[in-house]
Amino acid sequence: DPRLEAISAAIRVVPDFPKKGIMFQDITTLLLDHKAFKHTIDIFVDRYKDMQISVVAGVEARGFMFGPSIALAIGAKFIPLRKPGKLPGKVISESYELEYGHDRLEMHIGAVEPRERVIIIDDLVATGGTLSAAINLLESQEAEVVECACVIGLPEVKGQHKLKGKPLYLLVEPS
Ligand code: IMP
Repeated sequence: DPRLEAISAAIRVVPDFPKKGIMFQDITTLLLDHKAFKHTIDIFVDRYKDMQISVVAGVEARGFMFGPSIALAIGAKFIPLRKPGKLPGKVISESYELEYGHDRLEMHIGAVEPRERVIIIDDLVATGGTLSAAINLLESQEAEVVECACVIGLPEVKGQHKLKGKPLYLLVEPS
């Protein structure tokens, strides 16, 4: 798909951010490129429009930059999966491991109904820890997680193993 080259070219790589040794994949430059941004959304929409998906769940914060556009186009609702303490209603919470320490994702109780078909969106997957926490949140409410999707997959993505057997759909690798 020639659109993938444009998407890959629009992602900026920032060395040593947020700390030394990390090659940060910056999707804000993709958002500045109308064509490449539209290609990104179109590819996801083409994939999911006929899969009876009723929920797009996005991971804070960069999953919020892609998820709602996909949700609107495929006729699904959007659920934000947020960092701790941001959601005002009753939440369920799932912790996951980071390189140093732990973090948590939260979801409003009642946002998803049992048996709803869900896709989970984020900008990038590395270890898969974040997406696994997202899967656990949705599955705790008896939703059916059909697939996880990211714009970028790091090559060291051992994610697949961690993703509880769920398919992982990726557009590009870091350039
Ligand atoms: P994982 O949990 O190890 O798979 O890390 C994925 C999470 O870290 C996602 O929420 C990403 O947004 C974030 N992340 C890690 N590295 C990068 C990067 O280079 N660019 C953008 N986000 C990143």
